[in-house]
Amino acid sequence: MEKLRTETLCIQAGYKPGNGEPRQLPIIQSTTFKYATSEDMGKLFDLEADGYFYSRLANPTCDAVAAKICALEGGSTAMLTSSGQAANFMAVFNIASCGDHIVASSAIYGGSFNLFSVTMKKMGLETTFVDPDCTEEELNAAFRPNTKAVFGETIANPALKVLDIEKFARAAHAHGVPLIVDNTFATPINCRPLEWGADIVTHSTTKYMDGHASAIGGCIVDGGKFDWTAYADKFPGLTTPDDSYHGVTYTERFGLGGAFITKCTAQLMRDFGCVQSPQVAYILNLGLESLPFRMKQHCANAQAIAEYLKGHEKVKWVKYCGLEGDRYYNLAKKYMPNGSCGVISFGLNGGRTAAETFMKHLKLGSIETHVADSRTCCLHPASSTHRQMTDAELDAACVGADLIRLSCGLENVQDLIEDIGQALEKV
Ligand SMILES: *Cc1c(COP(=O)(O)O)cnc(C)c1O
Repeated sequence: MEKLRTETLCIQAGYKPGNGEPRQLPIIQSTTFKYATSEDMGKLFDLEADGYFYSRLANPTCDAVAAKICALEGGSTAMLTSSGQAANFMAVFNIASCGDHIVASSAIYGGSFNLFSVTMKKMGLETTFVDPDCTEEELNAAFRPNTKAVFGETIANPALKVLDIEKFARAAHAHGVPLIVDNTFATPINCRPLEWGADIVTHSTTKYMDGHASAIGGCIVDGGKFDWTAYADKFPGLTTPDDSYHGVTYTERFGLGGAFITKCTAQLMRDFGCVQSPQVAYILNLGLESLPFRMKQHCANAQAIAEYLKGHEKVKWVKYCGLEGDRYYNLAKKYMPNGSCGVISFGLNGGRTAAETFMKHLKLGSIETHVADSRTCCLHPASSTHRQMTDAELDAACVGADLIRLSCGLENVQDLIEDIGQALEKV
């Protein structure tokens, strides 16, 4: 069959029932799988045969959903993880460890920032943060001989900066390392980073992919094109024998298309165990089926609300890369011509106090730390997630004291605008 389009992949990819098998993806709620002989099972442990033996390493329900996301991103192989945090940690740790160095965009999710700047640092893995809008010279200057990967977000949460993926991929490849892109906000419906030169894509499936605020989850997709063997001395974990798997060399046995995810599963998932449960994978799969339609509506609602806010006298500023004149409008047009995401940020003339008053009076939009699900929600970071920070620290983190983050849901947009309008009147 010729290459199927996105909407079809969202429905059909990953699971093909045989004669008389369930049409809907079955939840294989089993930790373990039965074999006739020890020899049969031994082959699985030696990675010599395909099959399931223990759901920490692989489960048919989870594999089917990973295969669907892999098809959507245009990757070679993929795996699910228990959360977006686990996905980002494992994607990096699969190729970098104590004594190594990472270059990361400074505009990333707060949890990822902590992961790199505090936890991985304690593990001996250092990160240099670069402004995603830096020049190529500044970006290249951040690399060291022990740099093993570059990391960024397609659309940064919550800064809403758009990553120039080609610029970051060029720098990464010039230094013989892969570019890892967290594509949570754009989803493969609006951007496929692998097509722009990224090598590995990660997701918090907790956000739009699930889309209903039902289940925490994550995913790692390998593009299968990065040539680990060309920089074999940088990536010995992939290019030399793994003692914990009878001397398997991942690049030799599984090729460029399979080495990264096989190692990440066989070693890191085996040892860390941050698996996604089959129940969660099932829920995620339901979300994926409607993802193209939901993304279209999230983006349309966000566009209309951003335009409404921009024209409102009480609104000081609005950030949304779909707005003409936004600093990231052109980058968004290039990488996400059909829409970006449903999250916008804005500030009111009255600053911090006005933000609090506004949010208190919203009726449809509720106050939550979450984003990217069917229900509209908002957050004032300065008084919640970022409340330990001073106003100066907030500005440095691109999260000013007046910033309101609004995640536009799937409600009727006129209802949302009327709700926002009445809350603005109270300010
Ligand atoms: C939420 C989020 C994460 C973390 O994902 P969890 O599923 O909450 O662990 C990582 N990256 C981005 C961009 C996110 O929005």
